[in-house]
Amino acid sequence: MPFDAISGQQLPVRQLQTALASGHIAHAYLFSGIEGIGKCSTAISLAKALNCGRREADFCDDCLSCHKIEKRVHPDFFYIEPDKNVIRIEQVRDLQKKIIYKPMEGRRKVIIIDQAEKLNLHAANCLLKTLEEPPDDTVIILVAHAAMTLLPTIVSRCQRIRFAPLPAAAIIDFLLARGAEPEEARLAAALAQGSLQRALLLRETDFLAKREKLVQHVAGHASGTSESLFHLAKIAAEDPQEIPRVLEFLQTWYRDLVLLLEGFPEKKLYNQDVLDKLHEALKSETRQSIVQKQKKLQWIYAHGAFNINYTMALESMFMQTA
Ligand SMILES: [Zn+2]
Repeated sequence: MPFDAISGQQLPVRQLQTALASGHIAHAYLFSGIEGIGKCSTAISLAKALNCGRREADFCDDCLSCHKIEKRVHPDFFYIEPDKNVIRIEQVRDLQKKIIYKPMEGRRKVIIIDQAEKLNLHAANCLLKTLEEPPDDTVIILVAHAAMTLLPTIVSRCQRIRFAPLPAAAIIDFLLARGAEPEEARLAAALAQGSLQRALLLRETDFLAKREKLVQHVAGHASGTSESLFHLAKIAAEDPQEIPRVLEFLQTWYRDLVLLLEGFPEKKLYNQDVLDKLHEALKSETRQSIVQKQKKLQWIYAHGAFNINYTMALESMFMQTA
């Protein structure tokens, strides 16, 4: 799968291909953007391109080097990810010991640090030393949701490559090709807000059926019943794995309410299939109350990685803004 086959991320891919063709490869990159849009697979592609045995400024995905990187057994390729939701200093130290040597088989050593926002402070400070004095022939790629989740001193030493959310049409096509019904594909793409990974999760976990219940409760809550509020928190608590999906749904819900208030056409709404419920909810909301909830949601979502009690946070969000 050469670079051409990476879909929906033309700009970052072009930036990397230009760097490869000119030989001006940075010591460190930061790939940022929401999850599930191809950041990590592009980072692996860059590692392949830097070491491919057959192609220049691209990769064949077929030579020994490409195969070894794909299977993560290439001696010059290092992949670090969180262990129990955190990247610890021991993982970074272990890496530092391995990268002092020259590349063994390839042209460059490539390090990918996936979910770099999960580096704890000790690990981040330890990594900083490597970024300040990178070993020769080494490229470090940090993959993260947002630069703001990393230490500014780390961000300033990396070249930023921004990945945009995927167009809804691309996600819909992908889901249709895998047997989704058209309305199911439209809804999953809308709720996924540009992330293919989220869209696939929504289908796999049958979240779309659960969303119907959520719509009832969130619309009911807006009209003032405290019972709905507790139902919402209960639904969210049933399976902690699903809480990020609940938060993402709520983000689309309040975004739709803002668009309705501002008179945007209905076809712009994510939840256009439940328009009557949106109108019902709007009766007891103001611009200010919606914006307050949106801010709180963003906060809860951004701090999810630190294991805060989501259910309590959701309850307090509705109580404070009710
Ligand atoms: Zn190759």
